[in-house]
Amino acid sequence: MPRPVEAVIHTEALAHNLRRARAAAPDAKVWAIVKANAYGHGIERAYAGLRGADGFALLDLDEAERVRALGWRGPVLLLEGCFEARDLETCSRLNLWHVVHHEAQIDMLAAHKTHTPHHVFLKLNSGMNRLGFRPAAYAHAWRRLSGLTQVDGIALMTHLSDADGPRGITDQLATFEAATRELPGERTLANSAATLRHAAWQRPISAPGGIDRVAADWVRPGIMVYGSSPDFPERSIADWGLQPTMSLRAQIIATQALKAGERVGYGGRFTAPRDMRIGVVACGYADGYPRVVPDGTPVLVGDLRTRLVGRVSMDMITVDLTPVPDAGVGSVATLWGRSPDGTVLAIDEIAHAAGTVGYELMCALAPRVPARAD
Ligand SMILES: *Cc1c(COP(=O)(O)O)cnc(C)c1O
Repeated sequence: MPRPVEAVIHTEALAHNLRRARAAAPDAKVWAIVKANAYGHGIERAYAGLRGADGFALLDLDEAERVRALGWRGPVLLLEGCFEARDLETCSRLNLWHVVHHEAQIDMLAAHKTHTPHHVFLKLNSGMNRLGFRPAAYAHAWRRLSGLTQVDGIALMTHLSDADGPRGITDQLATFEAATRELPGERTLANSAATLRHAAWQRPISAPGGIDRVAADWVRPGIMVYGSSPDFPERSIADWGLQPTMSLRAQIIATQALKAGERVGYGGRFTAPRDMRIGVVACGYADGYPRVVPDGTPVLVGDLRTRLVGRVSMDMITVDLTPVPDAGVGSVATLWGRSPDGTVLAIDEIAHAAGTVGYELMCALAPRVPARAD
């Protein structure tokens, strides 16, 4: 028997969360962001839940190949564009749209020989200072692109750094608006946080050719589609009407009856305050469960919430069975996601206990954990 740990990818929850993004931005088209192997879910496993999207956006050419191999004929966008000249040949061959965020990518395009002109997304650095042309250079880059026979369409794009927080999007939106006001083309700005928190926000003026919502023509929801709240703990997935899409589950493989004062695991971090029973669960940091979480981190055993006690080991964790007296060897523990009977333990709670975000945990699901779609 294989080690009793698994990840379950919930197809219907992916589709639900995607519909939720659409409902938040009803006039926009929706990119399903499937970079990092669909945020750790596996592109092939997630595809059935995401095929209702208008396009797939990702970073790696091999991931683009995989999306095409699944039979997707619609738009595919490379979010960081091409890294070297021959990537453009792949774009021509697979009909990939690609971001253009610096001059060298325009040079590559200018030298590219193709019979099929490319659709590109010209990226503005509106203040995040990661990728994109500065506002003063943006129109020049647009004119260079529009003069190339290799290009037949230019969409306008930026990325928001603070859509999830108090600084908000006003400054970046104004920067984007000013830099793109005179330019034709579709627009895209919104990640999950902007889609949920700001997409319904109406601009006071509607300049010709301008945007009237941050949702614009395309939204780019990633994390919300994967059942994690972009602004936890301010709001949870329950608050946003989102469902978990990845469940990490493992069985209890041993129990121990502790006497008051006995200690558990490496370093004896947890000391039993009274006689109590603990369960040893077949999942540890080598499976992607974060080692840094403290005692008290929630765990579901069956449908009941209990807590981690003692340090996370490579292959095991230990949990308090006091609230679940019927649990024993073979009982199912859900480390995040949804129990087999549907009780939810949001990945955000575990991420928060680990001092990180849901993104990191789902992307770090270990390859040794067998995953299946349901
Ligand atoms: C990853 C990414 C997104 C999605 O962001 P979420 O916070 O996961 O919604 C959107 N746009 C770009 C350019 C990205 O790289």
